[in-house]
Amino acid sequence: MIALDGPSGTGKTTVARKLAERLSAGYLDTGAMYRVITLAVLRAGTDLADSAAVAAVAGKAVFAIGTTPGRPAVSLAGEDVAAEIRGPEVSHAVSPVSAVPAVRELLVARQRRIVEDVVAEVGGIVVEGRDIGTVVTPDAPLKVFLTASAEIRAARRSAQDTAAGRDTTHAAALASVDRRDKLDSSRATSPLKPAEDAVHVDTSELQIDQVLVALTELARK
Ligand code: C5P
Repeated sequence: MIALDGPSGTGKTTVARKLAERLSAGYLDTGAMYRVITLAVLRAGTDLADSAAVAAVAGKAVFAIGTTPGRPAVSLAGEDVAAEIRGPEVSHAVSPVSAVPAVRELLVARQRRIVEDVVAEVGGIVVEGRDIGTVVTPDAPLKVFLTASAEIRAARRSAQDTAAGRDTTHAAALASVDRRDKLDSSRATSPLKPAEDAVHVDTSELQIDQVLVALTELARK
């Protein structure tokens, strides 16, 4: 079990998927779970400030999330939403939705069940998110907290947006990652923060492959 936490744009997703592939382990993107619930909330036209209404939509949402590192599927009510959950509307609304305690309770329980099932099935899993080492799997033998400067994170985010066909300026990407990290770090329930025993890796000056080599070594220790 490897817990990989950190803010957006640190290379977490790429690193987590490649690491899982290398170790023949499963993979869980917990951010995709908060995103799919957020999409359900947006589609229902729910007021984001109404926590009870947000929690009610979350409780009823029927979604599925893949655990293979190659191309994990994400569906909402049977519809493939893997691309839509990465769009600007969901990215803007996801922090307030994930700050609702009932949403976190629901998803953390589901994440723990998935981790248990995948570990039983394939022997290991790499889980990425914001509170994996602190809340979801505090017993994970390896916890990693990835960081990178805000500038670098914004540059990576805008490159990802461009690759996905969305035009984002560097300034807009910077404002967006900055806003989300502030909200994620300041929420009352399970704020984004490293576990006390997490290994910190600053990816600002590192290529993905260098990060992978370092983490594979740690995982095999
Ligand atoms: O990782 P990603 O950028 O897709 O996460 C989207 C959002 O989901 C985060 O900004 C955060 O608000 C929320 N999240 C969370 N806890 C997690 C994973 C994601 O609150 N474990």
